[in-house]
Amino acid sequence: MSGSGMTASTYDVIVIGAGAAGLMCAATAGSRGRRVLLLDHARRPARKILASGGGRCNFTHLDSGPEHFLSANPRFCLSALRRYPPLAFLDLVERYGIRYEEREPGRLFCRESSRPILDMLLAECRAVGAELRAGTPVRGIHAQEAGFAVATATETLHAESLVVATGGLALPRAGASGFGYAVARQFGLAVRPTRPALVPLTLPPALAEPLGALAGISVPVRIRCGDAAFEEDLLLTHGSLSGPAALQASSYWREAVPVSVDWLPGVAVPDELAELRARRPKAGLQRYLSGYLPRRLARQLCRLGGWSGPLQGYSNAELDAVAAGLQDWRLTPAGTAGYAKAEVTAGGVDTRGLSSQTMAAREVPGLFFVGEVVDVTGHLGGHNLQWAWSSGVAAGRAA
Ligand SMILES: Cc1cc2nc3c(=O)[nH]c(=O)nc-3n(C[C@H](O)[C@H](O)[C@H](O)COP(=O)(O)OP(=O)(O)OC[C@H]3O[C@@H](n4cnc5c(N)ncnc54)[C@H](O)[C@@H]3O)c2cc1C
Repeated sequence: MSGSGMTASTYDVIVIGAGAAGLMCAATAGSRGRRVLLLDHARRPARKILASGGGRCNFTHLDSGPEHFLSANPRFCLSALRRYPPLAFLDLVERYGIRYEEREPGRLFCRESSRPILDMLLAECRAVGAELRAGTPVRGIHAQEAGFAVATATETLHAESLVVATGGLALPRAGASGFGYAVARQFGLAVRPTRPALVPLTLPPALAEPLGALAGISVPVRIRCGDAAFEEDLLLTHGSLSGPAALQASSYWREAVPVSVDWLPGVAVPDELAELRARRPKAGLQRYLSGYLPRRLARQLCRLGGWSGPLQGYSNAELDAVAAGLQDWRLTPAGTAGYAKAEVTAGGVDTRGLSSQTMAAREVPGLFFVGEVVDVTGHLGGHNLQWAWSSGVAAGRAA
């Protein structure tokens, strides 16, 4: 039954947060005939969709699966991803005639801008009568005998189901808040410690000057943090390591833990150095490195490694040590650039308190958590938005 005999301020479903997951959830619940209200404190909700993918929304990854997510339970995302897979979202994108491109295998981006993705979601909500109230902060939530009372500055709204889709703490200037975690705690759900993820790693003081001087240089590397390894581009900036390689590693980084950079991924460095020493004994390491890396970076790495003089002066053991220094170059970041620069928040609402099929709180009938607020964090590449779509649909089918 959908809302019969209810007053104007009573809904079947209230979704708090009109971002990626909230809009998807509202459209899905509305398509089942549910009377849906979306509330967002921001005057312009869903700004992260617009900012995503450098303004061209990397809206999904065709191979999205548990191996691309961090969570205390990495398999938690599986059910929602199976029920609403990347191809389902792509089908929606194609129905709206949105032009897209595959930049790297599996990574789908909008051709022109992110805007059509947001417009599509808003149109889907409008088509099913889901009402959106932007610029409406929530003052408080109370459980009722059947459902929830949600207080705004001007009225109290009622709904049978309440979906929390307020995202994480990343990028506060786009409307991020810790509201969802507070709601979880209010209703007795555990929240796992949060930290900025997909975020630049700040350089330790000793490297800030020598590497900061190379700001703007971007090179393909293999980066490792703990057991996680990624082959992506590393961008040097003033004071930090950035670019996809550093962002990916940052999700796994913990204070005082070193990251390892292989500046020459896939290159048999010891063999090549030995061969070069035999062929051109007077050649130096900088010349060798300049064959692979920008000259300024090659020079700086040699300086930092203390590698000078012709190769003929290096013993085999010394050449092996140089190769190790280049391919397992360790640094311990001073920290991260924080939530202000992070793309996502790792940690969040503990998945043990939620159903993986519906995103419903196990112990609180009618309460749901979707998207980034949940302890499910994707790798770079479209996985985070796919999680927002899939978890939003999962809740929208049940709320
Ligand atoms: C710069 C940037 C680029 C990104 N690029 C990509 C990309 O290309 N591909 C990808 O997969 N992911 C990308 N991400 C991550 C992705 O945008 C997020 O994972 C995704 O938007 C999370 O969706 P969500 O709906 O859970 O939260 P959000 O999209 O953050 O939406 C939350 C909504 O809740 C509202 N809200 C917050 N607090 C309250 C409150 N107290 N009351 C009411 N409303 C509230 C906010 O205003 C917002 O509208 C990017 C993130 C950033 C910051």
